[in-house]
Amino acid sequence: MTETTTSTATTTDGETTDVLVVGSGIAGCAAALSAAREGADVLLLTKATKPADASTDWAQGGISTTRNDPESLKEDIIAASDGTADPAAVDTLVNHADDAVEDVLIDTLEIDFDETADGDLDYTREAAHSEFRILHVDAATGTHILRPFLQHVDNHERIEVRQDTAALELITAEGRVHGVVSDEEPTGKPIYAGATVLATGGIGALYSRSTNPDDATGDGIAMAALAGADVTDMEYIQFHPTAYDGEDPFLLSEALRGEGAILRNGDGERFMDDYHSQGDLAPRDVVARAVEAEREATGEVVLDVSPLEFEADYPAIAEKCRDRGIEGDEIPVAPSEHFLCGGIDVDDRGRTSLDRLYAVGECARTGVHGANRLASTSLLEGLVWGLRAGDDATGFDPDIVEAPELLNRDPDLPARFAAEKFTRLQQTMDEYLGLERDPDEIARASAVLRRLKGEVDAYIRTRTARELYELRNASVTALLIARAAGENTESIGCHYVAADAGESMAEPPADD
Ligand SMILES: Cc1cc2nc3c(=O)[nH]c(=O)nc-3n(C[C@H](O)[C@H](O)[C@H](O)COP(=O)(O)OP(=O)(O)OC[C@H]3O[C@@H](n4cnc5c(N)ncnc54)[C@H](O)[C@@H]3O)c2cc1C
Repeated sequence: MTETTTSTATTTDGETTDVLVVGSGIAGCAAALSAAREGADVLLLTKATKPADASTDWAQGGISTTRNDPESLKEDIIAASDGTADPAAVDTLVNHADDAVEDVLIDTLEIDFDETADGDLDYTREAAHSEFRILHVDAATGTHILRPFLQHVDNHERIEVRQDTAALELITAEGRVHGVVSDEEPTGKPIYAGATVLATGGIGALYSRSTNPDDATGDGIAMAALAGADVTDMEYIQFHPTAYDGEDPFLLSEALRGEGAILRNGDGERFMDDYHSQGDLAPRDVVARAVEAEREATGEVVLDVSPLEFEADYPAIAEKCRDRGIEGDEIPVAPSEHFLCGGIDVDDRGRTSLDRLYAVGECARTGVHGANRLASTSLLEGLVWGLRAGDDATGFDPDIVEAPELLNRDPDLPARFAAEKFTRLQQTMDEYLGLERDPDEIARASAVLRRLKGEVDAYIRTRTARELYELRNASVTALLIARAAGENTESIGCHYVAADAGESMAEPPADD
């Protein structure tokens, strides 16, 4: 990112800006762009130090459009959610999808989506889509969208992008949000804003195995919840069935199975037809549980890519395989945390339950996904809601109110403290709040997580460090997941309550 003219004003105690956006994925970039188009000065804070520190950059398969048939996409989204998606939210998505893609991705950013031999856009189809409607750029669509998008907002005269800067706390007074306290020097400096847009992404770091970047610690969700915002549907967490099962895991896109790749167990046998009528293209949660069951029964599961022109058609994924020394056509896979369907409750313009606080992208719960998400709809959701929220967030003056004071009496944070506690948090989430849940285990997880949060809170009273806040945010988010999962005894979408799972499970990880 380049240096840009500062569009923010500095006060004695901090800075002010019209619109503050936190997060530089597709949702944050879209919010910043639309607020700036409305004439607002925008400050975009991101803890990322490079574009790749965002799930958007890692997205592979593509971004859905409706191809002028919103009703058909709506039907597929609602079916994939087991009928739980909010029809009004889905209408907002499908009715604005094609305009948003055309305006921002095609006309403004001029993204070269893959084309057919005739020079038409090459729409593909993924699991549970009834039509060919997904735009893509080989199997690295996210990189091809985010890098030009970041460059565009960074070059915009009304937007300042400040990287390697984390929002730590929201500034609130009487139910209204007035900005954030960030970790830039001097630590705890307030940034006041007319409106604040959280676009902080997902929660992958709460699990030991995730397809997300390591900094996906649920910051926006935790900060919003601690400030009193409504947070909903936190039990609905998608586990992707096919992440590479080895050091430095990465996602093996559903598009591979869509085009003919086959799951095989440790005995070399196809097995998905035994689990679902749609076989290898069954819904993600069904495939994920089947993969886990076959791994336990036969030792491993591989994705057999021999039916594909793998090297030619999926060069980015093939390169990842080569980098990790994977030889041949069989790639070992395991389920991994992938996407949070719930989050900070928002309306059709990204407004949260707190005045002047917006949330967009994966940290928000719009109602589009309900209990389960249709593939290739989250980039679209981040784009559509980002544009709508950025537009709505303009026109408010920043107020200077008392900001939370952060103390840093002992800056030498024992790095081991944060690392050890994170490991315990991940073990707890893996064991008790993963693919299958059981009410007794959820209760045990809650107890472990509450103790952990207590320890972190005691540390945070006198020390300010990003790792510590990330740990605090992860433990708050984990507790929200445990609470939501405990309150929902019904198996639906990606929340699977296994009635007898508890009896065979081990004791919780040691609480030290
Ligand atoms: C491997 C992979 C493949 C995927 N493939 C697809 C696909 O093909 N199609 C599709 O639609 N979806 C896909 N998804 C899902 C989709 O990519 C994400 O849901 C979406 O990109 C989220 O966008 P976002 O803007 O909300 O968050 P992100 O892109 O994750 O960006 C969040 C940003 O917030 C910043 N941040 C976080 N906390 C703070 C803080 N406290 N202070 C400052 N900054 C902060 C982060 O550094 C980051 O820049 C995929 C996801 C993954 C991981």
